[in-house]
Amino acid sequence: MGIKQFGKKVIFNMSAGLSDILYRRPYFDPESKSRVRSEDKLLHLDLVITEYCTRKCRDCSNLMQYYECPKHLTSEDVIRDLGRLLECFSIGELKILGGEPFVNQSVLIDVLHYLSGEAGGRVDRINIITNGTVIPDNDCIDAMKAEPKVEVSFSNYGKVSSRQDECVELCKDNGIRYAVIDASYDWHDFGRPVKYLESWDFLERQYKHCYNRKSCNTLYRGGFYACPRQAHGIHLGLLPDAKNEYVDLYDPAYTDKEGLRRAVLGVVRRKEHITACRFCIIGKHIHVPRGIQLESGKVRED
Ligand code: SF4
Repeated sequence: MGIKQFGKKVIFNMSAGLSDILYRRPYFDPESKSRVRSEDKLLHLDLVITEYCTRKCRDCSNLMQYYECPKHLTSEDVIRDLGRLLECFSIGELKILGGEPFVNQSVLIDVLHYLSGEAGGRVDRINIITNGTVIPDNDCIDAMKAEPKVEVSFSNYGKVSSRQDECVELCKDNGIRYAVIDASYDWHDFGRPVKYLESWDFLERQYKHCYNRKSCNTLYRGGFYACPRQAHGIHLGLLPDAKNEYVDLYDPAYTDKEGLRRAVLGVVRRKEHITACRFCIIGKHIHVPRGIQLESGKVRED
């Protein structure tokens, strides 16, 4: 263990909150002004292409471990949704994820081909988020190679990311940019998706400083959501479907692009916490080890 990691461990043992303030800085929000002022650009967007994952992480904040019958999204649906949003906004960082995106490579390839055309001019960076368990095939490698905006981000769960080293070598050999996440950080515990009895002040503070609502607005099955936990929680029936807290891109009420644009900005700029935050405890600064695996068919019960 290096000195930096050792220091983090010592401080974390003293206080998880202090460790976060020093290392993850939840109260530091350098994009706050641009997020609020930007009229026609989304700084970050998570694009879900599958509900399947090759791992079953007990503490997955996005709730993927709760899918009993996960499904792939289709190229047609994903591209139609993304195109609808790109009619109103350009995107700074587009994160493509699942679940595990490399289990749905045909859709990933189609999305990359789509972004290599005119639509791609409206996206600055493409980040593919993988758990490092699936080797992309030759067609997928070619599609990633052909798009210089692509970077592959390895979530790095140690041994759980069983094929990460091979994937990294593939990226190196093919000149594909990649990054391996620093595994010395524990995860934040977002808690089980049950209703917590926290004060209004706690909920407001938690939402205000939440990384996910700042950097992980999510496009999923025709909806634009504040965070992935809200998106999947509603779809899974685990969280209340508060329809006025996300945007249905195909709501007939949006008769023109301007109406849709304003609605999406309403989610991005929202100040008051959303209903999903009542089912979340990220703001408690509880740390849990990364990538703890559950047996198939089980979910966390504590
Ligand atoms: S539910 Fe609220 S606090 Fe939890 S990740 Fe989503 S926006 Fe953040």
